[in-house]
Amino acid sequence: MLAEIKGLNEECGVFAIWGHEKAAEVTYYGLHALQHRGQEGAGVVTTDRENLHLHKGLGLINEVFAGGEFNKLNGNAAIGHVRYATAGGGGYENVQPLLFRSQRDSLAIAHNGNLVNAYGLKQQLEAQGSILQTSSDTEVIAHLIKRSGQIELDEAIKSALSMVKGAYSLTILTETQMFVAVDPKGLRPLSLGKLGDAWVVSSETCAFDVTGAEYVREVEPGELITISDTGLHSQRFSSTLERSLCSMEYVYFSRPDSDLNGQNVHASRKKMGKVLAQEAPIEADVVTGVPDSSISAAIGFSEATGIPYELGLIKNRYVGRTFIQPSQELREQGVKMKLSAVRGIVKGKRVVMVDDSIVRGTTSKRIVRMLKEAGATEVHVRIASPPIQNPCFYGIDTSTTSELIAANHSIEEMRELIEADSLSFLSVDGLQDCIVGDNDVMTHGICKACFTGNYPTEIYPDTVLPAYKC
Ligand code: SF4
Repeated sequence: MLAEIKGLNEECGVFAIWGHEKAAEVTYYGLHALQHRGQEGAGVVTTDRENLHLHKGLGLINEVFAGGEFNKLNGNAAIGHVRYATAGGGGYENVQPLLFRSQRDSLAIAHNGNLVNAYGLKQQLEAQGSILQTSSDTEVIAHLIKRSGQIELDEAIKSALSMVKGAYSLTILTETQMFVAVDPKGLRPLSLGKLGDAWVVSSETCAFDVTGAEYVREVEPGELITISDTGLHSQRFSSTLERSLCSMEYVYFSRPDSDLNGQNVHASRKKMGKVLAQEAPIEADVVTGVPDSSISAAIGFSEATGIPYELGLIKNRYVGRTFIQPSQELREQGVKMKLSAVRGIVKGKRVVMVDDSIVRGTTSKRIVRMLKEAGATEVHVRIASPPIQNPCFYGIDTSTTSELIAANHSIEEMRELIEADSLSFLSVDGLQDCIVGDNDVMTHGICKACFTGNYPTEIYPDTVLPAYKC
């Protein structure tokens, strides 16, 4: 499904490199591969060992660097970031990396995820005299590092990370070192790779393929990696906990050519379609997927049932960002601009429409109508994930509970609302099997909280939805 019309948005992507003469340029291409994770702002910071150099701005990475600015970012190490923000939170000051200059040890930080105790920590910091310049919780981490009182920076980072709770995949750059860390539950993905002799870090492995880097391993939950000219050093800042990698990364957010925790996203989605077909079979003439992220599950559904897969829906690739607007009214208009039903395929046919998820339901209703207007005699909707009944506090901009259709309606009510002939969802157990399989949950466990309400971390009374964060 199309992120910007669905009301379900990833919060950010990070990319970093150490030890490459074209660090900024490689980071630019890495961020380009991660653009689906955030389109509102982008930035890169490099170090030439004496100074940090920053360029960032609002917009897509190729807009922010339209003048080839990466050529002016000197140094052979860089961290970069692409950012998503909802209306009101998209100011320039929140675009990352955030850079904090000081006489000794300037520091740049780029973060994917969302802290669940940022509000309380901000209040504490402000009471102690800190002046926060952004509404990003990433700044909280930087202040905690600076205020830790530790002389060695790795100790200061460990001290700061012991205080923050929630989801974070972090890269930090100083003049002479790079630090990489993932929260103790591993909610957001982060992989380590090599490009020649250079170390590379990315939210998704698709950026390794684009830049020519080779995958080495996952950055482990609770691990702090230090990279400098003396090499790579790993230490732990938390005990080993059961992994809770966001299952929506597999369902919807990540690119199908990425591997998350050693598992290919396209293959996982195909499995979801197969299991969905076993759990909710239906007689029909064609299977179609809602482009792009539902295609893999639709292929799986087709393979499991023998019902032919067809391109019943196509995406107009040439609709510009002008149409990506956060208001519901414009979002709904956007569906018509972006998707078309293929009359020659669906006319007179019983259609299975596979989608990855339903958030508010308005988009599903428009697509069902579109298929029927194009002549489909029946439209059976199959969703390759369980009903989303709870908000996410870990960096995915899901709606509030009142806006989530599955939080407020039975499946039969939802079927009526979206005007489908039948509606079924993948079960939570089915989703778990498709992603975790026979692997150990300690290393391959997933977060399913938006489906089950069982959050893998504490949620505080002042935990806020990630509308303005990253
Ligand atoms: S609550 Fe849902 S979207 Fe958020 S991290 Fe967990 S699985 Fe992902």
